[in-house]
Amino acid sequence: MSGVQQPVRILVVDDDEDDFLILKDMLQAISHPVKATWSYSYNDALEHIRSGAYDVIIVDFRLGRKTGIDLMADAARFHFDTPFIFLTGAGSAKIDALALKAGATDYLVKGEMTEEKLDRSIRYAIERSKVIAALRLSETKYRNVFENSKDGIFIADHTGRIIQTNTVFIQLLGVSIDDNPALNLTDLVTSEQQKNILANVIEHCGEIKDMETELLYAGEDIRTGLLSISCSTNENGESFFQCFLHDITELKKSERNLFQIEKLNAMGGLVRTLAHEVRNPLNNINLSVDQMEEMFTDEGLAIYLEIVKRNSGYINSLITELLHSLRHTEMNIQKWPVHDIFYLSLAKVKDRLDIKKIQVKVLLPQEDLHVQIDLEKMNSAFLNLLTNAIEAIEHNEGLITLSSEKSKDGVLVKIQDNGMGISTESLGRLFEPYYTTKRNGMGLGMVATLNILQAHNATIEVKSEVGKGTAFSILFPWPVEAAEN
Ligand code: ADP
Ligand code: MG
Repeated sequence: MSGVQQPVRILVVDDDEDDFLILKDMLQAISHPVKATWSYSYNDALEHIRSGAYDVIIVDFRLGRKTGIDLMADAARFHFDTPFIFLTGAGSAKIDALALKAGATDYLVKGEMTEEKLDRSIRYAIERSKVIAALRLSETKYRNVFENSKDGIFIADHTGRIIQTNTVFIQLLGVSIDDNPALNLTDLVTSEQQKNILANVIEHCGEIKDMETELLYAGEDIRTGLLSISCSTNENGESFFQCFLHDITELKKSERNLFQIEKLNAMGGLVRTLAHEVRNPLNNINLSVDQMEEMFTDEGLAIYLEIVKRNSGYINSLITELLHSLRHTEMNIQKWPVHDIFYLSLAKVKDRLDIKKIQVKVLLPQEDLHVQIDLEKMNSAFLNLLTNAIEAIEHNEGLITLSSEKSKDGVLVKIQDNGMGISTESLGRLFEPYYTTKRNGMGLGMVATLNILQAHNATIEVKSEVGKGTAFSILFPWPVEAAEN
């Protein structure tokens, strides 16, 4: 045993005191100091074991009506790693095998015991329990990494069936393998192309690094993740897959917002330059037309001059509108309850709602939510959204829902309609100036709205399904509340 001369604490469980005394004598003679304690009954032994005060337990196979193996099974329930050595009779190979199978580190045959054998057996038991303790520690460490990781970590077998996951996996995907025992790697991705890629990886023990994927099972929200898979082979030669899923939904969102802001800024610059460049020649045209009107009184010519004037007037108002939609003006920021924006903008579209028989639902939380806004500007942003919602409804069951709620990120406001919805192609162009799908549309409402929201540091997201409707979510990020005090 090691150089540490602490006595080895040994519990001897044997219902025969003579046996104990013989063993005790032998124990005194071995190379290491020993403190032997005798326990003669099953229950008493269990209490001793539970105390955790022993380094080795030597137990007789026969313990009244029970056996040493029963004792070991009972003790295992306290999660003790204390090693057990069994005492058996001569010629009981079956029992010896049974004891080892149950987890005993060794067995000693009564009557054949020598000090040397005893010494070796105890030394071995203690070494083994140290190894087990170290293994357990390292397993706990890796389990902690597995469980406390911010990423989803999971393992799939050679067929791609997911056999083990951490809790983040369950949170990210909203699915557990307890409820879906047949869950396969290929079920995690939505696109056919990615399903094929995964099927291929499974078949050929391949690998994947940071595959960006839209996550299935993520409930209402679309979430994006980076999926990495590596393949290993187990002792039976079967492949298995270690997989990591890193959630990048929030990153994507802020990337999108940044992109929107950059696009809008670039556009603002372009539009201002262009407006200036167009207005100068337009002025010259107007001046010339005025001049011509004075100089020529010809009736026929007057009609054409009128057309020129009307159209340059139209160009001029187009430019004014466009500049207006991208204008940064002084803001008059004050604290307003969210429902004030709702009711003010709704009042302005009341007639159109009535004509189209559109029902309006306003859902507000118990407590009033406040935001720091320029009410007039915000009102015009909501008016744009409401107008679009009304224009998107072409049936008689129209419904527009306005709601506000407190979220962990700020005050969340939603405007939802059950109109025609927006195609994927249109979704990508929604905030472009002049993008319109309407015959008489200007295509400036959404840009103006975005501009106003961005001046308030608010963000806007859209979800839409063709034929079903559209939902805009606007987030006024914290600290809107802090400003309340
Ligand atoms: P306009 O209303 O003049 O067309 P907007 O900038 O307000 O310009 O809107 C641009 C386009 O976005 C619309 O033409 C329409 O195709 C689409 N759109 C916006 N909101 C909705 C909505 N709630 N439902 C369906 N389509 C919408
Ligand atoms: Mg519009």
